[in-house]
Amino acid sequence: MKKINTLFTTTVLALATHAAWAQAPAAPQAKDATAATRAANQSARAQMPLGDKQSFEDAKRGLIESATDQLILGPTGRPVWTLKGYEFLSKEDAPDTVHPGLWRHARVNMANGLFKVTDRMYQVRGFDLSNMTIIEGDTGLIVVDPLVSTETAKAALNLFYKHRPRKPVVAVIYSHSHVDHFGGVRGVVNGDDVAAGKVKIIAPAGFMEEAVGENVIAGNAMSRRAMYQFGMLLPRNEKGQVDAGLGKPTAPGTISLIAPTQLIEKPVEKHRIDGIDIVFELTPGAEAPAEMIMYHPQFKVLNMTEIATQNMHNLLPMRGALVRDALSWSKYIGGALQRYGDKSDVMIAQHNWPVWGGDRLQRTLKNQRDTYKFLHDQTVRLMNHGYVASEIAENIQMPPSLSQDWSTHPFYGHLKHNIKAIYQRYLGYYDGNPVNLEALPPAPAAKKTIEYMGGADAVLKRAREDFARGEYRWVAQVTSQLVFADATNQEARTLGAEAYEQLGYQMESATARNAFLQGAAELRNGVPKLPSFVSASPDVIRALPLDMFFDFLGVRLNGDKAQGKTMAFNWHFTDTQQKYVLNLENSALTYMADAQVPNADATLTLSRATLDDISLQKTTFPAALQAGLIVVSGKREKVGELLGMLESFSVGFPMVEPRTPR
Ligand SMILES: [Zn+2]
Repeated sequence: MKKINTLFTTTVLALATHAAWAQAPAAPQAKDATAATRAANQSARAQMPLGDKQSFEDAKRGLIESATDQLILGPTGRPVWTLKGYEFLSKEDAPDTVHPGLWRHARVNMANGLFKVTDRMYQVRGFDLSNMTIIEGDTGLIVVDPLVSTETAKAALNLFYKHRPRKPVVAVIYSHSHVDHFGGVRGVVNGDDVAAGKVKIIAPAGFMEEAVGENVIAGNAMSRRAMYQFGMLLPRNEKGQVDAGLGKPTAPGTISLIAPTQLIEKPVEKHRIDGIDIVFELTPGAEAPAEMIMYHPQFKVLNMTEIATQNMHNLLPMRGALVRDALSWSKYIGGALQRYGDKSDVMIAQHNWPVWGGDRLQRTLKNQRDTYKFLHDQTVRLMNHGYVASEIAENIQMPPSLSQDWSTHPFYGHLKHNIKAIYQRYLGYYDGNPVNLEALPPAPAAKKTIEYMGGADAVLKRAREDFARGEYRWVAQVTSQLVFADATNQEARTLGAEAYEQLGYQMESATARNAFLQGAAELRNGVPKLPSFVSASPDVIRALPLDMFFDFLGVRLNGDKAQGKTMAFNWHFTDTQQKYVLNLENSALTYMADAQVPNADATLTLSRATLDDISLQKTTFPAALQAGLIVVSGKREKVGELLGMLESFSVGFPMVEPRTPR
């Protein structure tokens, strides 16, 4: 019965996009860069426009006050945000253990504080993974994207008030449905003022469904994978985490959500909000399922939100998501260029820094547009010649004309991964070779392979020779097979860790670097013991539609345990007057909304508020039963039987070593 208790904890963890905060100690096992890695990074340096230092100027322009030393704490005293620990980035020259392009990007991302964009328009940057844009309306403030958590949002607004008149926030705009663009809303406004109509909340169509829904069903898997993407368990140093591409990573503090009071539903809508004209343009299905850009004609400012930032974005986040559409993405950027390019003096975004000057921002938009179009078209061309994803990824290099623009570099996305994502969008995981319809999974395939190769010792000997030659990709692959054949093979784990690590040092993509270095750490030390904390967000849980609650219940059902069982339950939610039938048959849990059946095994009567409290771990299912908050009529034992078939998920599952066989 207790299992229902953990219903949403891991889900909500995933909603934070980020993993647990754990400022790990410096990894003593981390090795120096090898000669091969030094050579690879030097050769990368030779190709790059290192003379172009414009980004450093852009990132500092308009600075009013920076706050490099601040530490923002969460409700339990846990640090939510700090740039401390990144002092090592003050050196201009990249160390051998960091790709020189990434090093430069990580340095530009250190710019932080309150910035003036133009009269009446400001940004707080480097207070979280994302930026907060603040516009001075006629009577109050318009806040675009209140960061990830209430603590950072509040600190950002306070810094603004230190320098500008303390006007109330009269509108909040969520540019899109990712948590780093809405989570801090209660740090800048309170719910009563929104309910009283004093504050408008504006968002793109589909915002709520996507904001609460994107991470629910697969939330646990995404949480774990996000740890690899953001590198939050890694130490901050030259051999560890240096950046996350879009900014420095954050730990979730208090995540909040207030539902929009006004949706932008047409492809283009023009509104005057507190005297400020804003042209909203929807850009769904690109960076987020629900997203929009904004143009401010009075200020000649184009806000590309997260559709064009200072990097090649990802077409499929490494945490996992539905794959994004590179073709639409390119068209949205092209459309913005066409409509606003020659009417804009500055282009801002909700991550990274602005681009000033009509010519420069038009060139940036053109290059961003062409980056996604080039990737899309070349991938599909090779796909139509019959090549599979891994072959295509090996055969596409960005054209030098684009690579000379820093903003096209894959600091957040990863070139090979993006190419594979385009393949996946059109053709899926299956490469057309039927052997892959029935390929053995990693562990049994690895056991056979290693056996055929003459056993682990023979493989290790040759892998060491390849390591000495700098063939890290292959050494990582073959040692991974050794580990999947036998997780206790310490020599294989160590050599594998060293290969992952050198690959990490060579990655220009912050997220790929983080992934390799986290993988190396786990090969050395095993799956980390993750701090147990619940970052459940009451706002998000309350906003989840009941359908989603029952969908999630379905994915927790152990089909084997349910075999041969047939059950039906009526659910009645007294406060919302909703009725559901939950049906178990054929090892599948299905439901009907707005329905009750006469022959149910039991009827559960409860309030939605009680269900939310259980999800938030404020109470448990049995305790709620005991307290009479859930009333069961009919066969009470059947409820217990159903709960006994539901599994909970643990976020600490293995990623680079064999999983427990089921
Ligand atoms: Zn974002």
